[in-house]
Amino acid sequence: MNIKYDMESNVMQIDDIDLYPENLDHNFIGICNSCNSDVISLSYHAHDNGMVVAGKCTACDLLYAIFYDTEWNWQGEEPIEQFFDINSSNNIKFLDNIDRKKLETVFTPAETTAMYAKASGENYVRQYLYRARKKYDDFYELFGIQINI
Ligand SMILES: [Zn+2]
Repeated sequence: MNIKYDMESNVMQIDDIDLYPENLDHNFIGICNSCNSDVISLSYHAHDNGMVVAGKCTACDLLYAIFYDTEWNWQGEEPIEQFFDINSSNNIKFLDNIDRKKLETVFTPAETTAMYAKASGENYVRQYLYRARKKYDDFYELFGIQINI
């Protein structure tokens, strides 16, 4: 199971599926495996006919994904060690969903690279992104897809 968490937006991603929070209640939910301190919930998410709760140790800051069934019976837990940014993730998915040929019709490879880099939060060549942005209206007129990166 591949678990990622966005600390900013409290979105959990399990095997590439985004789980937006049902609520952000802070409750005591267990004891840290590493240091025996309290683990407090950060967010609750619906998951596979049950719930998964993101919890954080109050002492060592370790994060856990704790799984429950619909009756709130504990099903297991996994450490959360990977993080992501839901906005970047959505921007990349958005770009990936556009037919590559359509992108190539309007944008140069350097401009496309700059758009992807900007979407992933990586360094990009500003000049190329500015050039690409000037073409967003053209792209919309041609294909009816509004890019906003
Ligand atoms: Zn701890």
